[in-house]
Amino acid sequence: MKIGFIGLGNMGAPMARNLVKAGHAVTGFDLAAPMPEGVAKAASAAEAATEAQVVITMLPNGAILRTVAQEVIPAMAKGAVLCDCSTVDVESARAVAEQAAKAGLGALDAPVSGGIGGAEAGTLTFMVGGGEAAFETVRPLFEIMGQKAVHCGEAGAGQAAKICNNMILGATMIVTCEAFALADKLGLDRQKMFDVVSTSSGYSWSMNAYCPAPGVGPQSPADNDYKPGFAAELMLKDLRLSQQAAEAADADTPLGRMAAALYEDFVERENGMGKDFSAMLPRFETRHRS
Ligand code: NAD
Repeated sequence: MKIGFIGLGNMGAPMARNLVKAGHAVTGFDLAAPMPEGVAKAASAAEAATEAQVVITMLPNGAILRTVAQEVIPAMAKGAVLCDCSTVDVESARAVAEQAAKAGLGALDAPVSGGIGGAEAGTLTFMVGGGEAAFETVRPLFEIMGQKAVHCGEAGAGQAAKICNNMILGATMIVTCEAFALADKLGLDRQKMFDVVSTSSGYSWSMNAYCPAPGVGPQSPADNDYKPGFAAELMLKDLRLSQQAAEAADADTPLGRMAAALYEDFVERENGMGKDFSAMLPRFETRHRS
């Protein structure tokens, strides 16, 4: 397939590399990042999109996606599919899909879970919103870049699934960290706490697969001085998107709102920037009941 790839940063570059390895012809464009080996360099986003059957975007946010979409949609061939894999607000995803449909194009919002490691290994999970035909067109590419693609519904459904999942993840990580800090103060050994909770009703992915306590449970960023992993500022971005969506949909999300506020404090006022999102545990260790 001829593929245009726009946004070749931490995630986009390894995803594009896997498409090249699988034999696809990839033309890329990025404002700053170098082209990965095997990706032809275009002079503009529009040029990368012109002859492509599928255009993939992997960009920082919804505003940038809207700007890029404005440029590439008129350049794309009728029947081609614009597939955005960035994490963006639901409204931007829907606006871009509508614009693409008007131009006779397919459109998908297909955010990912699995991080840079998943992008490199080709084991991402794609949560996809958009039409059935567009999903079927891109499915073979999802299979190369990932291990699972769930078609969640119409435009915006992929972004909705992503932010709901990450709202659960953020809140669960926080409560797991505060429980460890409480256990410390109660004199409960961390390993014993893990042994009990990981096999009891408090278990979760945060506890069992990504334990925030160093030396306890499977290897995780906690064992590497909380180097990400999944950076706290990316969690903050996703929690803010969840609250933006909750606001627009009039949904009551008190824990999601509190999780966003705590990660905001951590990232913007407490040196959390650049640390893994599980570094909430050392944060709680140093605190007292206020
Ligand atoms: P990144 O900042 O490393 O990459 C984004 C790239 O987009 C950069 O290379 C930048 O130069 C390029 N760019 C910005 N504006 C552009 C424009 N107008 N035209 C062309 N290129 C442009 O970010 P990333 O970590 O690769 O994340 C990309 C997306 O994936 C984000 O939406 C992020 O939320 C999501 N995501 C990231 C992770 C992760 O672990 N990094 C995990 C899941 C989802």
